[in-house]
Amino acid sequence: MACSAFHAVPKYSSVNPARARIRVVVDELKDVYVPIRAGDYTQAECNGRHIYTINGKEYSECSFCGTSCPSRDYFKEPDSGLPLKCDMCEDEPPLSEPMCVQVCEPGALTYIEREEEGEEEEEKRGEMEIGLEALVNKYGVKTVIDTIARMSKG
Ligand code: SF4
Ligand code: SF4
Repeated sequence: MACSAFHAVPKYSSVNPARARIRVVVDELKDVYVPIRAGDYTQAECNGRHIYTINGKEYSECSFCGTSCPSRDYFKEPDSGLPLKCDMCEDEPPLSEPMCVQVCEPGALTYIEREEEGEEEEEKRGEMEIGLEALVNKYGVKTVIDTIARMSKG
């Protein structure tokens, strides 16, 4: 509900759970909450027909799928039928936490920023390449190679 209010135009002007970009599969008796955020749109159903059994209850593959898909009404704007996708509450200024996390009373949702694996490595490599390119432009590739060879010997 908070999601639909946050994304209403103007903001907070309406509340409609059918416009939420998240749904939570809930088993209150077992205290199990599985959040599913709306992902990409697809024109056709997939072949996934896996059945998951959790605490003795069976769930279809679609139960945990975030796709806006023709097989069901989830993650579609109810008036226009246009697909809805979670944008992590992009906003200016940015929220401290996405709206759904802020209002989730059972605490089923948490927000943790994660650094993509290899991102730091990629960044370092990028910086190194820029530095080397500047040296090559200034002194020529042969001088740079000779200098690196001399340094690695020392
Ligand atoms: S909702 Fe997801 S799992 Fe189900 S048919 Fe569509 S894409 Fe496949
Ligand atoms: S992060 Fe924002 S856009 Fe995504 S489901 Fe939560 S409230 Fe909706």
